[in-house]
Amino acid sequence: LFSPVEMAPRDPILGLNEAFNADNRSEKVNLGVGVYYDENGKVPLLRAVCAAEEARVAEQGPRPYLPMEGLASYDAAVQTLLFGAESSLLESGRLVTAQSIGGTGALKLGADFLYRLLNKRLVAISDPSWENHRSLFEAAGFEVVTYPYYDPQTHGVNLEGMLEGIEKLPEGSVVLLHACCHNPTGADLSLADWTRVIDVIQRRNHVPFIDIAYQGFGDNLQDDAVALRLFAESGLPLFISSSFSKSFSLYGERVGALTLVTESHDEMLSTMSQLKRVIRTNYSNPPTHGAKVVSAVLNNVELYAKWEEELAEMRDRIRIMRSSLVEKLAAAGVTKDMSFIERQRGMFSYSGLTKAQVARLADEFAIYAVGSGRICVAALNTGNIDHVANSMAAVLKD
Ligand code: PMP
Repeated sequence: LFSPVEMAPRDPILGLNEAFNADNRSEKVNLGVGVYYDENGKVPLLRAVCAAEEARVAEQGPRPYLPMEGLASYDAAVQTLLFGAESSLLESGRLVTAQSIGGTGALKLGADFLYRLLNKRLVAISDPSWENHRSLFEAAGFEVVTYPYYDPQTHGVNLEGMLEGIEKLPEGSVVLLHACCHNPTGADLSLADWTRVIDVIQRRNHVPFIDIAYQGFGDNLQDDAVALRLFAESGLPLFISSSFSKSFSLYGERVGALTLVTESHDEMLSTMSQLKRVIRTNYSNPPTHGAKVVSAVLNNVELYAKWEEELAEMRDRIRIMRSSLVEKLAAAGVTKDMSFIERQRGMFSYSGLTKAQVARLADEFAIYAVGSGRICVAALNTGNIDHVANSMAAVLKD
């Protein structure tokens, strides 16, 4: 039975982790990860999370199944976080939210649901995008194309190219967008840019699917969700995949959500009923723990304030690492303007390092980055940044 099975291609990032783990040099640094590390190089356990977990253990409650769409208090809190407490959408009866197995699970649910809904199964993702976007939609039966996104000259967004690319897609295509902290480039759209993107999507009857996996890592919880709020105001139907993996540092608990903005209460009811079928036939119902913790924090004023503070600490530390890296690269003799690293947002930076330079970083300096030149700025700390800056300078200068 299994003899014809060929080895699947290696995941490039997991392969990188293996190489990093096998490296014996003490100065080694892994910038290939997609995880926030604190100043001590550890994945933090947030104080707000700890408090919610202690309360949950103390409660000694039973462990029943959750409903297919997940914990109701969690789903409602997700909606408030996405659209803002003042949003009229919250009371509109038009929102569908289903707790999901991380942001990945939300994308998969959305993709499976769209597959049933659409005749034209074409999705456009940014060039470049998080690698799993393509694989996931292809696995769900979609043709995946790209629209221009990153401008290597400015290290920012190629807005005109993006608008043109989205315009040219066949009418009614699914357009996948990153709400903030674009992975892998760190290059985000401005408010004015979003208005223009929404305009093209609306004119071409495309279906917007917004992935928000880093809310709070860019500017703050509100501003990072501005695209969602603009889309919602435009009246377009909307798919949103959201994740708390990073913002709650709850990676392995798999806490995410799929939220849909429908056009009427009736649409909401029928859409939810169909979405539940997708859930039922995939995994029946989602896990409890992460959603209980997140819900406890989001629905408690004190814990919420504590969480927001901790989120700001993570965000500020990343910003400090960004400016420190720019400064140290200049001090190490890099004459090229690297200030784009400071302008980019979130955990990642498209550093402009070539594949050959990335290979040299690993071979000569034990610094591991993705071949595309993506570095995880959230893996820098005061203990490793000098080594990283000096090594980057060495490969950039030659
Ligand atoms: N979307 C993007 C853009 C991401 O970067 C990630 C995680 N790296 C996800 C979705 C998936 O999030 P999760 O880990 O919660 O499945």
